[in-house]
Amino acid sequence: MKEFVILAHNYVRPEVQRMADFVGDSLELARKVKEVDAEYIVFAGVDFMAEMAAILNPDKKVIHPDPCSKCAMAARIKAKDILKAKEKYPDAEVVTYINSSSEVKAVSDVICTSANAVKLVKSMKSNRIIFAPDKNLAHYVATQTDKEIIPVPENGCCPVHHALTLEDIARNLEGYPEAEVIVHPECTPEIIKLADFVGSTSALIRHIKETGAKTIIVGTEMGIISRMKRESPEKNIIPASKYLVCPDMKMITAEKVIKAMEQKGPIVHVDENVCQGARKALERMFELSTPER
Ligand code: SF4
Repeated sequence: MKEFVILAHNYVRPEVQRMADFVGDSLELARKVKEVDAEYIVFAGVDFMAEMAAILNPDKKVIHPDPCSKCAMAARIKAKDILKAKEKYPDAEVVTYINSSSEVKAVSDVICTSANAVKLVKSMKSNRIIFAPDKNLAHYVATQTDKEIIPVPENGCCPVHHALTLEDIARNLEGYPEAEVIVHPECTPEIIKLADFVGSTSALIRHIKETGAKTIIVGTEMGIISRMKRESPEKNIIPASKYLVCPDMKMITAEKVIKAMEQKGPIVHVDENVCQGARKALERMFELSTPER
């Protein structure tokens, strides 16, 4: 057994991605974390991702190199908001985006990622779904299914993706009118409507490899651009805006990863009751979603 395995999200700094044993989107990382055979999992991502690793692989010690690196969207909802919505809509099932705290996951029926949200919502028994916490992803799911989708909270969103504007896309298209526009479903409905392709970060990487387009405008966090360029060097890959930068993902530096490995900490701890509820909702996601491409 190895002593350390480093897992990194697509949005962390390129130098941290290069240090990692595995780089992926939330769904790929959630799957990977269950297979890891190492004493320590070093998780290069924001707090909910490191907690998810501790929940899904309780036999391993999970290190988060900077516990101050927290997802701004996940911070916008608390477990009590879900409980209140469940009281208001007792017939609804709760589908919660993986970008949420462990406490919120623990009171949810199933967890989804941007890669499987549509499929999971379609597979739910109830026709009414409480969807937390991203209103933009909730809107996208609503356009792809017949279910009634209730976003909780009403205005939850990723401040990074939400900041991408139609003007940003138009400015890029002026220079490259033949370009394809591909975006993450955390972008606003207006952006999604004009996009040629919508998908999770890994789906966007795959799409660039498969599309016939030579120039692609990419609407998601900048951290993924270097990987896209590395894996598709023949394509002209243009970030839709240089301001699409998640400050919390960038808090994980190579120095912090090295220091965390030297000190074998900080170790992530999740309350056992919370752990049980969150694990149940995460495991349900794996049951309901066969491996997505
Ligand atoms: S990019 Fe948005 S959703 Fe992802 S960690 Fe940063 S704030 Fe959270």
